Amino acid sequence: MKREDFQKYGYQLIDWIGDYLEEVEKYPVKSTVRPGEVKGQLPSSPPAQSEEMDRILMDFNSIIMPGMTHWQHPGWFAYFPSNNSPASILGELLSAGLGTQGMVWETSPSATELEEVVMDWLRQMLGLPEEFAGVIQDTASTATLCALLAAREKATGFAANESGFSEILRVYASEEAHSSVEKGVKIAGYGRKNLVYIPTDDEYAMIPGEMEKAIESDLRAGLKPTAVVATVGTTSSGAVDPLKAIGELSSKYGLWLHVDAAYAGTAAILPEKRWALEGVEKADSLVFNPHKWMLTNFDCSAFFVCDHRLLTRTFEIHPEYLKTGVDAEVKNFRDWGIQLGRRFRSLKLWFVLRSYGVEGIKKIIRRHIHLAERFCDELVKDKRIEVLAPVYFSLVCFRLNDGRPEDELNLLNEQLLEAINSTGKVFLTHTTLKGKFTIRLVVGQRTTEERHVREALEIIRAKADEILKKE
Ligand SMILES: *Cc1c(COP(=O)(O)O)cnc(C)c1O
Repeated sequence: MKREDFQKYGYQLIDWIGDYLEEVEKYPVKSTVRPGEVKGQLPSSPPAQSEEMDRILMDFNSIIMPGMTHWQHPGWFAYFPSNNSPASILGELLSAGLGTQGMVWETSPSATELEEVVMDWLRQMLGLPEEFAGVIQDTASTATLCALLAAREKATGFAANESGFSEILRVYASEEAHSSVEKGVKIAGYGRKNLVYIPTDDEYAMIPGEMEKAIESDLRAGLKPTAVVATVGTTSSGAVDPLKAIGELSSKYGLWLHVDAAYAGTAAILPEKRWALEGVEKADSLVFNPHKWMLTNFDCSAFFVCDHRLLTRTFEIHPEYLKTGVDAEVKNFRDWGIQLGRRFRSLKLWFVLRSYGVEGIKKIIRRHIHLAERFCDELVKDKRIEVLAPVYFSLVCFRLNDGRPEDELNLLNEQLLEAINSTGKVFLTHTTLKGKFTIRLVVGQRTTEERHVREALEIIRAKADEILKKE
Protein backbone atom coordinates (compact mmCIF):
# COMPACT_ATOMS: atom_id res chain seq x y z
CA MET A 1 0.00 0.00 0.00
CA LYS A 2 1.32 3.37 -0.93
CA ARG A 3 1.78 5.99 1.75
CA GLU A 4 -0.94 8.22 0.21
CA ASP A 5 -3.38 5.32 0.26
CA PHE A 6 -2.49 4.41 3.80
CA GLN A 7 -3.18 7.95 4.89
CA LYS A 8 -6.34 8.28 2.82
CA TYR A 9 -7.86 5.11 4.26
CA GLY A 10 -6.50 5.93 7.68
CA TYR A 11 -8.39 9.24 7.80
CA GLN A 12 -11.45 7.49 6.39
CA LEU A 13 -11.37 4.85 9.09
CA ILE A 14 -10.86 7.33 11.89
CA ASP A 15 -13.93 9.15 10.56
CA TRP A 16 -15.77 5.84 10.45
CA ILE A 17 -14.83 4.99 14.04
CA GLY A 18 -15.78 8.48 15.23
CA ASP A 19 -19.23 8.10 13.63
CA TYR A 20 -19.60 4.55 14.89
CA LEU A 21 -19.02 5.55 18.49
CA GLU A 22 -21.57 8.36 18.16
CA GLU A 23 -24.16 6.24 16.37
CA VAL A 24 -23.64 2.77 17.78
CA GLU A 25 -27.05 3.05 19.41
CA LYS A 26 -28.77 2.61 16.07
CA TYR A 27 -27.59 -1.01 15.80
CA PRO A 28 -29.24 -3.88 17.65
CA VAL A 29 -26.91 -4.45 20.61
CA LYS A 30 -26.59 -8.13 19.93
CA SER A 31 -25.89 -9.51 16.49
CA THR A 32 -28.79 -11.49 15.03
CA VAL A 33 -26.83 -13.59 12.53
CA ARG A 34 -27.27 -17.34 12.64
CA PRO A 35 -24.35 -19.73 13.19
CA GLY A 36 -22.39 -20.09 9.95
CA GLU A 37 -23.92 -17.04 8.32
CA VAL A 38 -20.70 -14.99 8.34
CA LYS A 39 -18.50 -17.90 7.29
CA GLY A 40 -20.88 -18.71 4.46
CA GLN A 41 -20.19 -15.34 2.85
CA LEU A 42 -16.40 -15.67 2.97
CA PRO A 43 -14.28 -17.54 0.44
CA SER A 44 -12.89 -20.78 1.81
CA SER A 45 -9.40 -20.18 0.43
CA PRO A 46 -7.19 -17.09 0.67
CA PRO A 47 -6.98 -14.56 -2.16
CA ALA A 48 -4.02 -15.23 -4.42
CA GLN A 49 -3.78 -11.68 -5.67
CA SER A 50 -3.84 -8.29 -4.04
CA GLU A 51 -7.29 -6.79 -3.55
CA GLU A 52 -8.33 -3.16 -3.46
CA MET A 53 -8.83 -1.57 -0.04
CA ASP A 54 -12.23 -0.30 -1.22
CA ARG A 55 -13.38 -3.87 -1.80
CA ILE A 56 -12.08 -4.99 1.57
CA LEU A 57 -13.90 -2.17 3.33
CA MET A 58 -17.09 -2.87 1.43
CA ASP A 59 -17.03 -6.47 2.62
CA PHE A 60 -16.24 -5.30 6.12
CA ASN A 61 -19.46 -3.32 6.05
CA SER A 62 -21.68 -5.89 4.38
CA ILE A 63 -20.34 -9.16 5.83
CA ILE A 64 -18.53 -8.43 9.07
CA MET A 65 -20.64 -5.64 10.59
CA PRO A 66 -23.90 -7.64 10.72
CA GLY A 67 -22.05 -10.29 12.71
CA MET A 68 -20.92 -7.80 15.32
CA THR A 69 -22.33 -7.55 18.80
CA HIS A 70 -21.85 -4.00 19.96
CA TRP A 71 -20.01 -3.91 23.24
CA GLN A 72 -19.79 -0.11 23.11
CA HIS A 73 -23.58 0.26 22.78
CA PRO A 74 -25.06 2.29 25.64
CA GLY A 75 -27.65 -0.48 26.06
CA TRP A 76 -24.89 -2.93 26.95
CA PHE A 77 -25.82 -4.38 30.34
CA ALA A 78 -24.50 -7.91 29.74
CA TYR A 79 -21.63 -9.89 31.34
CA PHE A 80 -19.27 -7.12 32.38
CA PRO A 81 -18.44 -4.18 30.12
CA SER A 82 -15.38 -4.14 27.89
CA ASN A 83 -14.81 -0.42 27.65
CA ASN A 84 -12.96 1.49 25.04
CA SER A 85 -12.63 5.26 24.77
CA PRO A 86 -11.36 7.74 22.18
CA ALA A 87 -8.09 8.23 24.07
CA SER A 88 -7.54 4.49 24.34
CA ILE A 89 -8.25 3.92 20.65
CA LEU A 90 -5.64 6.52 19.73
CA GLY A 91 -3.10 4.90 22.03
CA GLU A 92 -3.87 1.51 20.49
CA LEU A 93 -3.47 2.99 17.03
CA LEU A 94 -0.04 4.39 17.84
CA SER A 95 0.99 1.08 19.34
CA ALA A 96 -0.02 -0.64 16.09
CA GLY A 97 1.82 2.01 14.11
CA LEU A 98 5.02 1.59 16.09
CA GLY A 99 4.66 -2.17 15.84
CA THR A 100 7.03 -2.62 18.71
CA GLN A 101 7.59 -5.76 20.72
CA GLY A 102 8.70 -5.07 24.26
CA MET A 103 9.93 -8.41 25.50
CA VAL A 104 13.02 -6.94 27.13
CA TRP A 105 13.96 -3.41 28.14
CA GLU A 106 16.37 -3.03 25.24
CA THR A 107 13.74 -3.87 22.62
CA SER A 108 12.04 -0.55 23.48
CA PRO A 109 13.06 1.12 26.72
CA SER A 110 9.96 3.31 26.63
CA ALA A 111 7.64 0.31 26.49
CA THR A 112 9.11 -1.10 29.71
CA GLU A 113 9.53 2.14 31.60
CA LEU A 114 6.13 3.57 30.71
CA GLU A 115 4.57 0.30 31.88
CA GLU A 116 6.39 0.58 35.20
CA VAL A 117 5.18 4.14 35.64
CA VAL A 118 1.52 3.70 34.69
CA MET A 119 1.26 0.52 36.74
CA ASP A 120 2.51 2.42 39.72
CA TRP A 121 -0.05 5.13 39.01
CA LEU A 122 -2.75 2.45 39.09
CA ARG A 123 -1.32 1.08 42.32
CA GLN A 124 -1.68 4.48 43.93
CA MET A 125 -5.18 4.94 42.52
CA LEU A 126 -6.32 1.69 44.14
CA GLY A 127 -4.48 2.39 47.38
CA LEU A 128 -2.39 -0.78 47.12
CA PRO A 129 0.70 -1.17 49.33
CA GLU A 130 3.95 0.40 48.15
CA GLU A 131 5.72 -2.94 47.75
CA PHE A 132 3.28 -3.98 45.04
CA ALA A 133 4.91 -3.97 41.62
CA GLY A 134 2.77 -4.11 38.52
CA VAL A 135 2.91 -5.71 35.12
CA ILE A 136 0.33 -5.71 32.34
CA GLN A 137 -1.04 -9.10 31.36
CA ASP A 138 -3.42 -9.82 28.52
CA THR A 139 -6.28 -10.96 30.75
CA ALA A 140 -7.22 -11.68 34.34
CA SER A 141 -7.21 -15.37 33.44
CA THR A 142 -3.51 -15.16 32.61
CA ALA A 143 -2.74 -13.08 35.70
CA THR A 144 -4.45 -15.64 37.92
CA LEU A 145 -2.56 -18.45 36.21
CA CYS A 146 0.71 -16.57 36.82
CA ALA A 147 -0.20 -16.20 40.50
CA LEU A 148 -0.99 -19.91 40.77
CA LEU A 149 2.30 -20.81 39.11
CA ALA A 150 4.30 -18.55 41.42
CA ALA A 151 2.40 -19.98 44.41
CA ARG A 152 3.27 -23.48 43.25
CA GLU A 153 6.96 -22.59 43.02
CA LYS A 154 7.00 -20.86 46.37
CA ALA A 155 5.34 -23.86 48.02
CA THR A 156 7.79 -26.34 46.50
CA GLY A 157 10.91 -24.19 46.97
CA PHE A 158 11.06 -23.83 43.17
CA ALA A 159 11.37 -27.58 42.82
CA ALA A 160 8.25 -27.96 40.67
CA ASN A 161 9.85 -25.91 37.88
CA GLU A 162 12.96 -28.02 38.14
CA SER A 163 11.69 -31.56 38.37
CA GLY A 164 7.91 -31.48 38.46
CA PHE A 165 6.02 -32.24 41.65
CA SER A 166 4.25 -35.14 43.23
CA GLU A 167 3.02 -33.48 46.42
CA ILE A 168 -0.67 -32.71 46.52
CA LEU A 169 -1.01 -28.93 46.60
CA ARG A 170 -4.39 -27.49 47.50
CA VAL A 171 -6.00 -24.27 46.30
CA TYR A 172 -9.03 -22.64 47.91
CA ALA A 173 -11.60 -20.35 46.35
CA SER A 174 -15.22 -19.59 47.03
CA GLU A 175 -17.90 -21.49 45.17
CA GLU A 176 -18.60 -18.17 43.42
CA ALA A 177 -15.03 -17.80 42.08
CA HIS A 178 -14.59 -17.18 38.37
CA SER A 179 -14.05 -20.14 36.05
CA SER A 180 -10.56 -18.81 35.27
CA VAL A 181 -9.48 -20.09 38.70
CA GLU A 182 -10.44 -23.62 37.74
CA LYS A 183 -8.72 -23.19 34.38
CA GLY A 184 -5.56 -21.89 36.06
CA VAL A 185 -5.53 -24.72 38.58
CA LYS A 186 -5.77 -27.23 35.73
CA ILE A 187 -3.05 -25.65 33.61
CA ALA A 188 -0.68 -25.11 36.54
CA GLY A 189 -0.80 -28.84 37.26
CA TYR A 190 -2.51 -28.75 40.65
CA GLY A 191 -5.33 -30.87 39.25
CA ARG A 192 -8.93 -29.75 39.28
CA LYS A 193 -9.75 -32.00 42.23
CA ASN A 194 -7.33 -29.99 44.34
CA LEU A 195 -9.34 -26.83 43.93
CA VAL A 196 -11.46 -26.72 47.07
CA TYR A 197 -14.64 -24.68 46.74
CA ILE A 198 -15.51 -22.92 49.99
CA PRO A 199 -19.19 -22.28 50.78
CA THR A 200 -20.51 -18.73 50.74
CA ASP A 201 -22.83 -16.80 53.04
CA ASP A 202 -26.21 -15.24 52.23
CA GLU A 203 -24.44 -12.48 50.31
CA TYR A 204 -22.36 -14.95 48.28
CA ALA A 205 -19.09 -14.09 50.03
CA MET A 206 -16.64 -16.76 51.13
CA ILE A 207 -17.04 -17.93 54.74
CA PRO A 208 -13.52 -17.80 56.25
CA GLY A 209 -14.42 -20.30 58.98
CA GLU A 210 -15.28 -22.83 56.27
CA MET A 211 -11.95 -22.15 54.61
CA GLU A 212 -10.10 -22.85 57.84
CA LYS A 213 -12.02 -26.09 58.28
CA ALA A 214 -11.03 -27.17 54.78
CA ILE A 215 -7.38 -26.30 55.43
CA GLU A 216 -7.33 -28.22 58.70
CA SER A 217 -8.93 -31.23 57.10
CA ASP A 218 -6.37 -31.13 54.25
CA LEU A 219 -3.51 -30.92 56.72
CA ARG A 220 -4.81 -33.96 58.57
CA ALA A 221 -4.95 -35.81 55.27
CA GLY A 222 -1.32 -34.93 54.50
CA LEU A 223 -2.13 -32.48 51.70
CA LYS A 224 -0.36 -29.15 51.32
CA PRO A 225 -2.48 -25.97 51.49
CA THR A 226 -0.82 -23.67 48.94
CA ALA A 227 -2.95 -20.83 47.65
CA VAL A 228 -6.27 -19.08 48.01
CA VAL A 229 -8.01 -16.94 45.43
CA ALA A 230 -10.29 -14.35 46.98
CA THR A 231 -12.71 -12.50 44.77
CA VAL A 232 -13.59 -8.85 45.11
CA GLY A 233 -16.68 -8.47 42.94
CA THR A 234 -17.72 -11.96 41.86
CA THR A 235 -18.91 -12.39 38.31
CA SER A 236 -22.31 -13.74 39.21
CA SER A 237 -23.35 -11.20 41.81
CA GLY A 238 -20.51 -8.78 42.66
CA ALA A 239 -19.91 -10.37 46.06
CA VAL A 240 -16.85 -9.40 48.06
CA ASP A 241 -14.87 -12.05 49.89
CA PRO A 242 -13.61 -10.77 53.28
CA LEU A 243 -9.94 -10.12 52.48
CA LYS A 244 -8.95 -9.33 56.02
CA ALA A 245 -10.06 -12.64 57.49
CA ILE A 246 -8.82 -14.59 54.47
CA GLY A 247 -5.50 -12.75 54.69
CA GLU A 248 -5.11 -13.70 58.34
CA LEU A 249 -5.70 -17.35 57.50
CA SER A 250 -3.25 -17.08 54.60
CA SER A 251 -0.56 -15.80 56.98
CA LYS A 252 -1.38 -18.43 59.58
CA TYR A 253 -1.11 -21.32 57.13
CA GLY A 254 1.47 -19.86 54.74
CA LEU A 255 -0.81 -19.63 51.71
CA TRP A 256 -0.34 -17.41 48.67
CA LEU A 257 -3.28 -15.01 48.63
CA HIS A 258 -4.31 -13.89 45.16
CA VAL A 259 -7.08 -11.33 44.83
CA ASP A 260 -9.26 -11.47 41.74
CA ALA A 261 -10.79 -8.02 41.40
CA ALA A 262 -11.11 -8.19 37.62
CA TYR A 263 -14.29 -6.11 37.48
CA ALA A 264 -14.68 -4.38 40.83
CA GLY A 265 -11.06 -3.37 41.31
CA THR A 266 -11.86 -0.26 39.33
CA ALA A 267 -14.39 0.81 41.96
CA ALA A 268 -11.63 0.93 44.58
CA ILE A 269 -10.46 4.12 42.92
CA LEU A 270 -13.39 5.71 44.75
CA PRO A 271 -12.75 6.41 48.44
CA GLU A 272 -16.29 5.28 49.27
CA LYS A 273 -15.59 1.84 47.73
CA ARG A 274 -12.09 1.35 49.13
CA TRP A 275 -13.59 -0.88 51.84
CA ALA A 276 -13.79 -3.65 49.25
CA LEU A 277 -9.99 -3.99 49.33
CA GLU A 278 -9.64 -3.70 53.07
CA GLY A 279 -7.05 -6.27 54.12
CA VAL A 280 -5.24 -6.25 50.76
CA GLU A 281 -1.90 -5.64 52.58
CA LYS A 282 -1.87 -9.36 53.29
CA ALA A 283 -2.26 -10.29 49.62
CA ASP A 284 0.59 -11.70 47.56
CA SER A 285 -0.96 -10.64 44.28
CA LEU A 286 -3.97 -8.89 42.80
CA VAL A 287 -5.48 -8.47 39.37
CA PHE A 288 -7.96 -5.99 37.98
CA ASN A 289 -8.95 -5.23 34.41
CA PRO A 290 -8.71 -1.71 33.02
CA HIS A 291 -10.12 -3.39 29.88
CA LYS A 292 -13.35 -4.04 31.70
CA TRP A 293 -14.47 -0.95 33.50
CA MET A 294 -11.71 1.59 33.04
CA LEU A 295 -12.03 2.93 29.52
CA THR A 296 -9.10 0.97 28.09
CA ASN A 297 -9.39 -1.18 24.98
CA PHE A 298 -9.21 -4.91 25.39
CA ASP A 299 -6.69 -6.31 26.24
CA CYS A 300 -5.16 -4.73 29.31
CA SER A 301 -5.14 -6.48 32.65
CA ALA A 302 -3.27 -5.00 35.62
CA PHE A 303 -1.42 -7.60 37.69
CA PHE A 304 0.33 -6.67 40.93
CA VAL A 305 2.65 -8.79 43.03
CA CYS A 306 3.97 -8.07 46.45
CA ASP A 307 7.32 -9.85 46.05
CA HIS A 308 8.10 -9.68 42.37
CA ARG A 309 11.21 -11.83 42.79
CA LEU A 310 8.96 -14.83 43.40
CA LEU A 311 7.27 -14.10 40.09
CA THR A 312 10.45 -13.59 38.11
CA ARG A 313 12.08 -16.64 39.67
CA THR A 314 9.09 -18.63 38.45
CA PHE A 315 9.28 -17.38 34.89
CA GLU A 316 12.87 -16.37 34.20
CA ILE A 317 14.81 -17.85 31.33
CA HIS A 318 18.26 -16.89 30.17
CA PRO A 319 18.92 -17.99 26.63
CA GLU A 320 22.02 -16.42 25.17
CA TYR A 321 20.11 -14.66 22.41
CA LEU A 322 18.03 -12.66 24.91
CA LYS A 323 20.91 -11.44 27.08
CA THR A 324 21.64 -7.73 27.07
CA GLY A 325 24.27 -5.57 28.68
CA VAL A 326 21.82 -3.83 31.00
CA ASP A 327 19.96 -6.83 32.47
CA ALA A 328 21.15 -6.01 35.99
CA GLU A 329 19.77 -2.47 35.89
CA VAL A 330 16.38 -2.86 34.24
CA LYS A 331 13.15 -4.82 34.33
CA ASN A 332 12.73 -7.36 31.57
CA PHE A 333 9.02 -8.01 31.55
CA ARG A 334 9.48 -11.28 29.63
CA ASP A 335 10.22 -12.76 33.06
CA TRP A 336 7.00 -11.45 34.62
CA GLY A 337 4.62 -13.76 32.81
CA ILE A 338 4.07 -16.51 30.30
CA GLN A 339 4.60 -14.81 26.97
CA LEU A 340 7.94 -13.70 25.63
CA GLY A 341 6.74 -11.12 23.10
CA ARG A 342 4.74 -8.26 24.53
CA ARG A 343 2.49 -5.59 23.05
CA PHE A 344 2.98 -1.95 23.99
CA ARG A 345 -0.21 -1.83 26.07
CA SER A 346 0.90 0.80 28.54
CA LEU A 347 0.58 3.40 25.80
CA LYS A 348 -3.22 3.25 25.66
CA LEU A 349 -3.41 3.14 29.44
CA TRP A 350 -1.22 6.25 29.65
CA PHE A 351 -3.45 8.01 27.13
CA VAL A 352 -6.55 7.08 29.13
CA LEU A 353 -5.13 8.15 32.51
CA ARG A 354 -3.91 11.48 31.15
CA SER A 355 -6.87 12.22 28.94
CA TYR A 356 -9.48 11.62 31.66
CA GLY A 357 -7.42 12.23 34.75
CA VAL A 358 -8.16 10.29 37.92
CA GLU A 359 -11.04 12.65 38.72
CA GLY A 360 -12.58 12.13 35.28
CA ILE A 361 -12.46 8.36 35.69
CA LYS A 362 -13.95 8.59 39.19
CA LYS A 363 -16.82 10.62 37.83
CA ILE A 364 -17.72 8.00 35.25
CA ILE A 365 -17.47 5.09 37.71
CA ARG A 366 -19.59 7.00 40.22
CA ARG A 367 -22.19 7.67 37.57
CA HIS A 368 -22.42 3.97 36.73
CA ILE A 369 -22.77 2.97 40.36
CA HIS A 370 -25.39 5.64 40.92
CA LEU A 371 -27.37 4.53 37.85
CA ALA A 372 -27.28 0.91 39.00
CA GLU A 373 -28.52 1.89 42.45
CA ARG A 374 -31.31 4.02 40.99
CA PHE A 375 -32.28 1.17 38.67
CA CYS A 376 -32.46 -1.19 41.63
CA ASP A 377 -34.59 1.23 43.67
CA GLU A 378 -37.02 1.61 40.80
CA LEU A 379 -37.06 -2.09 39.99
CA VAL A 380 -38.13 -3.21 43.44
CA LYS A 381 -41.15 -0.90 43.35
CA ASP A 382 -42.63 -3.64 41.19
CA LYS A 383 -43.63 -6.21 43.79
CA ARG A 384 -43.24 -9.07 41.31
CA ILE A 385 -39.51 -8.41 41.08
CA GLU A 386 -37.06 -9.87 43.56
CA VAL A 387 -33.50 -8.57 43.92
CA LEU A 388 -31.23 -11.52 44.64
CA ALA A 389 -27.98 -9.95 45.84
CA PRO A 390 -26.73 -6.74 47.43
CA VAL A 391 -25.71 -4.05 44.94
CA TYR A 392 -22.18 -3.10 45.99
CA PHE A 393 -21.01 -1.78 42.65
CA SER A 394 -22.86 -1.49 39.36
CA LEU A 395 -24.32 -4.99 39.03
CA VAL A 396 -27.94 -5.75 39.86
CA CYS A 397 -29.17 -9.36 40.13
CA PHE A 398 -32.91 -9.94 39.97
CA ARG A 399 -35.72 -12.18 38.86
CA LEU A 400 -39.44 -12.13 38.32
CA ASN A 401 -41.09 -13.98 41.19
CA ASP A 402 -44.86 -14.35 41.31
CA GLY A 403 -44.71 -17.11 43.88
CA ARG A 404 -44.75 -20.16 41.65
CA PRO A 405 -42.44 -23.17 42.37
CA GLU A 406 -38.68 -22.71 41.91
CA ASP A 407 -38.18 -24.74 38.74
CA GLU A 408 -41.07 -22.97 37.04
CA LEU A 409 -39.60 -19.64 38.12
CA ASN A 410 -36.36 -20.56 36.42
CA LEU A 411 -38.17 -21.24 33.17
CA LEU A 412 -40.20 -18.05 33.49
CA ASN A 413 -37.10 -15.91 33.93
CA GLU A 414 -35.32 -17.59 31.05
CA GLN A 415 -38.27 -16.58 28.88
CA LEU A 416 -38.23 -13.08 30.30
CA LEU A 417 -34.54 -12.61 29.53
CA GLU A 418 -35.03 -13.81 25.98
CA ALA A 419 -37.94 -11.41 25.50
CA ILE A 420 -35.91 -8.49 26.89
CA ASN A 421 -32.97 -9.18 24.59
CA SER A 422 -35.16 -9.74 21.54
CA THR A 423 -35.88 -6.01 21.51
CA GLY A 424 -32.31 -5.34 20.34
CA LYS A 425 -32.30 -2.20 22.49
CA VAL A 426 -30.57 -3.70 25.50
CA PHE A 427 -28.52 -6.79 26.19
CA LEU A 428 -28.59 -8.50 29.58
CA THR A 429 -27.21 -11.91 30.56
CA HIS A 430 -27.90 -14.40 33.33
CA THR A 431 -26.31 -16.54 36.00
CA THR A 432 -27.57 -18.86 38.69
CA LEU A 433 -27.40 -17.96 42.37
CA LYS A 434 -27.95 -20.89 44.73
CA GLY A 435 -29.81 -22.63 41.93
CA LYS A 436 -31.98 -19.66 41.00
CA PHE A 437 -31.97 -18.44 37.41
CA THR A 438 -30.86 -14.85 37.84
CA ILE A 439 -30.97 -11.96 35.40
CA ARG A 440 -27.94 -9.64 35.65
CA LEU A 441 -27.85 -5.98 34.67
CA VAL A 442 -24.46 -4.27 34.79
CA VAL A 443 -24.07 -0.55 34.18
CA GLY A 444 -20.55 0.06 32.96
CA GLN A 445 -20.59 1.22 29.39
CA ARG A 446 -18.88 4.58 28.98
CA THR A 447 -21.82 6.24 27.21
CA THR A 448 -24.67 4.74 29.20
CA GLU A 449 -26.88 7.50 30.58
CA GLU A 450 -29.93 7.63 32.72
CA ARG A 451 -32.26 7.39 29.72
CA HIS A 452 -30.74 4.05 28.69
CA VAL A 453 -31.20 2.59 32.13
CA ARG A 454 -34.75 3.91 32.22
CA GLU A 455 -35.40 2.27 28.87
CA ALA A 456 -34.06 -1.03 30.23
CA LEU A 457 -36.43 -0.71 33.15
CA GLU A 458 -39.39 -0.07 30.89
CA ILE A 459 -38.52 -3.01 28.68
CA ILE A 460 -38.19 -5.32 31.67
CA ARG A 461 -41.58 -4.26 33.05
CA ALA A 462 -43.34 -4.45 29.68
CA LYS A 463 -41.93 -7.89 28.90
CA ALA A 464 -42.85 -9.16 32.37
CA ASP A 465 -46.43 -7.95 31.81
CA GLU A 466 -46.53 -9.56 28.40
CA ILE A 467 -45.27 -12.92 29.59
CA LEU A 468 -47.57 -13.10 32.60
CA LYS A 469 -50.58 -12.03 30.56
CA LYS A 470 -49.94 -14.63 27.87
CA GLU A 471 -50.21 -17.50 30.35
C1 LIG B 1 -14.12 -11.11 33.86
C2 LIG B 1 -13.56 -11.81 35.03
C3 LIG B 1 -12.44 -12.65 34.89
C4 LIG B 1 -11.84 -13.00 33.56
O1 LIG B 1 -11.34 -11.91 32.90
P1 LIG B 1 -10.44 -12.04 31.60
O2 LIG B 1 -9.63 -10.80 31.62
O3 LIG B 1 -11.38 -12.11 30.45
O4 LIG B 1 -9.63 -13.27 31.71
C5 LIG B 1 -11.92 -13.22 36.03
N1 LIG B 1 -12.45 -12.96 37.24
C6 LIG B 1 -13.52 -12.19 37.41
C7 LIG B 1 -14.07 -11.96 38.78
C8 LIG B 1 -14.11 -11.58 36.30
O5 LIG B 1 -15.19 -10.81 36.46
